[in-house]
Amino acid sequence: MSNTTLKEYLKTIDEQKITRPAFVLRLSKQMIAEGKSKKNDELRAYGEYYYIDALFRLGKFSTVSLKSAATVLNLAKRCKLYELEARCYNMLGIHYATCGDVLSALENYQTAEKVATQHKNYSVLRAVYNNLGDLYLELKDYEEALKYNNKCLNSVKRLIDKNEIKGNDAEYIMVVSLINLTEVDYMLGKYEESLDKIAKVREKMTEEDPLMLKPSVEVFYALNYIGMGKREEADTHIRRAIDASIGHADYVECFRNYKLLLEKVVKEKYDDDYARAILGILRNFALTNGLVNLVCSYYEAAINYEKIRKSDNAKLFGLYTDYFNFKHNQEEEALDEKLRAVRSRNTLNGIMRRQEEIEIKNAKLAKMYEQDPLTGLFNRYILSSTCEEFCAKAREEKLQTGVTIIDIDYFKNYNDSYGHLEGDEVLKKVSEALKKAAVSDEILIRYGGDEFLVFFKNKTLDEVVNFSKRVNENLKGCAIKNDSSSVSEFLTVSQGIVNGYPETAESMMDFIHFADNALYKAKSEKRGCIGVYLGTDKYTVL
Ligand code: GH3
Ligand code: MG
Repeated sequence: MSNTTLKEYLKTIDEQKITRPAFVLRLSKQMIAEGKSKKNDELRAYGEYYYIDALFRLGKFSTVSLKSAATVLNLAKRCKLYELEARCYNMLGIHYATCGDVLSALENYQTAEKVATQHKNYSVLRAVYNNLGDLYLELKDYEEALKYNNKCLNSVKRLIDKNEIKGNDAEYIMVVSLINLTEVDYMLGKYEESLDKIAKVREKMTEEDPLMLKPSVEVFYALNYIGMGKREEADTHIRRAIDASIGHADYVECFRNYKLLLEKVVKEKYDDDYARAILGILRNFALTNGLVNLVCSYYEAAINYEKIRKSDNAKLFGLYTDYFNFKHNQEEEALDEKLRAVRSRNTLNGIMRRQEEIEIKNAKLAKMYEQDPLTGLFNRYILSSTCEEFCAKAREEKLQTGVTIIDIDYFKNYNDSYGHLEGDEVLKKVSEALKKAAVSDEILIRYGGDEFLVFFKNKTLDEVVNFSKRVNENLKGCAIKNDSSSVSEFLTVSQGIVNGYPETAESMMDFIHFADNALYKAKSEKRGCIGVYLGTDKYTVL
């Protein structure tokens, strides 16, 4: 039932996350609370993830996100939600990239890539490739940028072929990777190729341009024409690019494109009004979003521009001061954030370590609970778990169940004559004789005192009887002297066998009861022999 709730939540989020992030934020808090109260870790994990996602979309990607991310990772690992785990690393990569911490971004994207590859989550992988491609473009490593943008484009095609993404989503994703590849081509001086790609992007553009493609399309037309020295075409597209920015100030992806255009326009000495207008666009982008990397990037562009134009010192000084103050505040915040990140990472490690310790302890307990310390065989508790379970299955699937009880003859006397320690050694030797007689999945149990029980799953009576015979052979081989026995000079055991379908014996206790009766027959007959239950109160002794 809880899974239906999770599915419903996820469906609503999928429909609303882009258009109504504030609503998704509230919904995610509800999921977290519900997950906690109902002890539904999956619901909580997704809740925490979409809480970060909504914060990001609202431009409030803050320290809260890191704490939530630690929770998501912990829960995702525990519940084996690999796709969510990969998504979360990807989200952390975005977080660090927007903070300007490139190395942490790279580390998280690479972890996301590893997890997503391992678990074949192709749609997450697509997003990770896209982000890695973006990051390398930012770092001006065009070889890597090309590699990841191509990988991204190929996975988009594959996802579309498999119908895993469709409609607007597919268009959007396809276009984003095409635009990145356009940028790579342009940076490598391949203007014709770049123009070809941007033309493909333009084909996808409709009048309303819901994908907000216009700014990038115009910027790349302008850039490539400038690169080719086609001044007239370049002029037209620079003007169009500037116009296209209106109403697109929150479309972060364009920022880098406009910055490229600014650099090119200044370098190639185009009209200074263009440069001023583009600088205004960058400023608007940076201040609207408040993202650290954009704000820094804007100040750097502005300072560079004023330096090239040899502006008066007061103007330059003002920009330097603003930039310094922004960076200073940012560093203090970043330090705070790093401390918190370290703390949450420690908490995460702590939780995982404690979990591992508990698992080891539980495994030990389970062993203690089911293992006899002297002989290493199972103890009788396994009868009420594994054996009882098989009995139930045997009833449904019409399989035979067998029980043999083995009891050492005159063991009290043996102890009296040779001492308790020697008696213990005998118990070990008998258990070895049982282990040696076992051929497949017989369950060997020390039933108590000098009694052993062997549980057989789906064996014929012959097979069960042969097991007993092998035990006798093995013991004979041990030749354990027992002067206090009246049937043999060596230690012997008596055995009682029952094997059949569970209609004759309803439960484990019935099987044990019949085996015990058979053992009694063996003991009262002569000891050292095998009693077999033949059904309807009939027994034979071998
Ligand atoms: P019977 O042939 O009728 O089975 O005679 P028995 O002497 O073997 O009688 P019974 O099976 O009733 O006695 C079990 C003896 O097993 C009693 C006890 O001294 C001994 N025993 C039980 N547990 C241990 C143990 O852990 N170590 C040792 N050395 N002896 C044990
Ligand atoms: Mg005995």
